[in-house]
Amino acid sequence: MLQPPVQDFIPPGHLNIMGLVHESAVNGPGRRAVVWVQGCQRECGGCFNPQSWDFVPNQIVAVESLAAAILANPRNEGVTFSGGEPFWQAKALAELARLLKAKGLNVMSFTGFTLAELRSPAAPPHSQELLAELDILIDGPYVQSLAINSPDSLVSSRNQRVHVFNPAFSNRLDWASDQAEIHILKDGTRIVTGFLGTLNLSPN
Ligand code: SF4
Repeated sequence: MLQPPVQDFIPPGHLNIMGLVHESAVNGPGRRAVVWVQGCQRECGGCFNPQSWDFVPNQIVAVESLAAAILANPRNEGVTFSGGEPFWQAKALAELARLLKAKGLNVMSFTGFTLAELRSPAAPPHSQELLAELDILIDGPYVQSLAINSPDSLVSSRNQRVHVFNPAFSNRLDWASDQAEIHILKDGTRIVTGFLGTLNLSPN
């Protein structure tokens, strides 16, 4: 299991994020906000967001402020946590999830851990708290040699799994995985997300 990273620069009740976008159609059911957290140790070849790897302060935001920003766009019917590694900030993401679910949004997360790892005693702190809030989890790191590169797949590499914890979403695993979205964040950072094959874009 990976060692916990040093993130003591994040105050309680805050998150260190790489970015936030609204109304994404390629990161889960319906239109959703996507929160990319900052920090991941895995360095997967072909990672979509290598700028998210460093555990350094990027955008430090209060959970309540982030919830308000997501709720301010009524077209967001849910939120997806991506990264970076969401489970290294599980406590604050669980808080965010609770605030959003109280307002009727659904919650999904990606993770480089497997579900079995997240349920083990060696899981990142507060993993169970975050798991308890999720409607859908997509687990496992991106493995380039197992890449799928298909518009019909909900996952990027064959080792990854879709876990539907809320049965209401069993028939909603239909997001537009054949589309790519390019989001330009306020600081100029570019996030490419979705299926890259049709555009022949490099993930880096
Ligand atoms: S786990 Fe995800 S964010 Fe981390 S390096 Fe791999 S693909 Fe990138």
